[in-house]
Amino acid sequence: MKSRLKSASILFAALATVSQLAVGASVKKKEEAVASIEKHRPEIIALSDQVWGFAETALLEVRSAQALADYAEKQGFKVQRGVAGLPTAFTASYGEGRPIIGVLGEYDALPGLSQKSQSTKEVLEAGAPGHGCGHNLLGAAALSGALAIKDLIAAGRLKGTIRFYGTPAEEAVGGKVYMAREGLFNDLDVCLTWHPADETEVAVDSSQAVVEFMVEFSGKTAHAAADPWNGRSAVAAMELFAAGLNRMREFVKPSVRMHYSIMNGGDVPNVVPAYARLWCWLRDSKGAGVEQLLGRVRKIAEGAAMMAEVEGKLTVHGGCWETLVNLTGAKVMFANLEWLGPIPFTPEEQEFAKEIQRATGVGPKGLDGSVHPWAAPKPDPEGGSTDVGDVSWFVPMLGLSATTAPREAPWHAWPTVACAGMSIGHKGLIHAAKAMAATMVDLYEDPKIVQAIQAEFKEKTKGVVYKPFVPEGPPPLPKR
Ligand SMILES: [Zn+2]
Repeated sequence: MKSRLKSASILFAALATVSQLAVGASVKKKEEAVASIEKHRPEIIALSDQVWGFAETALLEVRSAQALADYAEKQGFKVQRGVAGLPTAFTASYGEGRPIIGVLGEYDALPGLSQKSQSTKEVLEAGAPGHGCGHNLLGAAALSGALAIKDLIAAGRLKGTIRFYGTPAEEAVGGKVYMAREGLFNDLDVCLTWHPADETEVAVDSSQAVVEFMVEFSGKTAHAAADPWNGRSAVAAMELFAAGLNRMREFVKPSVRMHYSIMNGGDVPNVVPAYARLWCWLRDSKGAGVEQLLGRVRKIAEGAAMMAEVEGKLTVHGGCWETLVNLTGAKVMFANLEWLGPIPFTPEEQEFAKEIQRATGVGPKGLDGSVHPWAAPKPDPEGGSTDVGDVSWFVPMLGLSATTAPREAPWHAWPTVACAGMSIGHKGLIHAAKAMAATMVDLYEDPKIVQAIQAEFKEKTKGVVYKPFVPEGPPPLPKR
């Protein structure tokens, strides 16, 4: 997932005081955290490159999870592998007592996006996956930030617990949803996350809630010419379903997104197809909106089955809640981004980016490593969903994005893969790690900040009953 956050800049009056508080109090310890990140930089970058090379897709991130977990263990973290029934999920904790701060790390790749780390499109391994969302950077940076805090706790400079979460399958089933349901985030005081992007800024916008499901129709086969009257077409039902869904588009809010793929649609025209299957995703700004849509879509599936005289079945496979933004926490994160300043890219890296931009027709704008000004949250998020959303209803979530790719170049595409495997991505990784570590220093140092973040969280979650979209039990593992 990736969200582009581009709002008009409005600085809250209260922000200045929080910024000063956040930056002023613990500068020395923040500098120590930054120094720790620099010390481990070569190992962390090697780890990121290793995961980039593995390029394992959702729930198959065996070597990627192992590389990160092994490194954490070697650094003194207590590691628990295979948590929440997910073989590639793990937690790594260090320290004791409160506060308990969590950091989320992803590492899954996307199918079919294999690409060399160069400024022209060229496949590294035909048909193989690639890190088109930069999750190799995401996991390594999160671990790097956690490690900096661990170093400070070990040196007696900070008190409390740091916990890294290895969270698989963000791009498919949403590993965090299963981890959240299992209660793995329940004892956290605050949780941090980041995402690679084409710009650097604090996250103040939510993400869309999404539900995904299969619609299946089962009919009766027959010879399509000799005795079609004895057949009942499952594909006819699927077409009617799709027609109903597409007709409904006019009567939904502009915030709604509905998309589907036809997975099974018959084999040959001269056989009346007995089976059809369609995979559909529904999104809206809030989970309640998605629930309501799902109710309407169930009726369309029933109606389509009735018209085609076949059996219909709708099975929900999963989904994510929208992200609950914590503005108090975002202000602390923003202050630390400002404290760090822009990401310094070299003329060679700018040229690399411009070559990609020329190749993809977006204009040679280069890389934007500047810290974007504070922007007011939008009423509706831009398109996209993430399983970070589910975690954000259990614990206050603070997020940021850091520049790892050329401005406006296509995402989930070869340019992202290319940059995630070279110095541009590495710089964004290190920057994100530093911003998260500096923010965490504030959280450990000043209980008042944590209290203020939690007060906002409690206010916003009052009366909310969390119910995940995912079905019972762990998700089935895909075949290799
Ligand atoms: Zn992503």
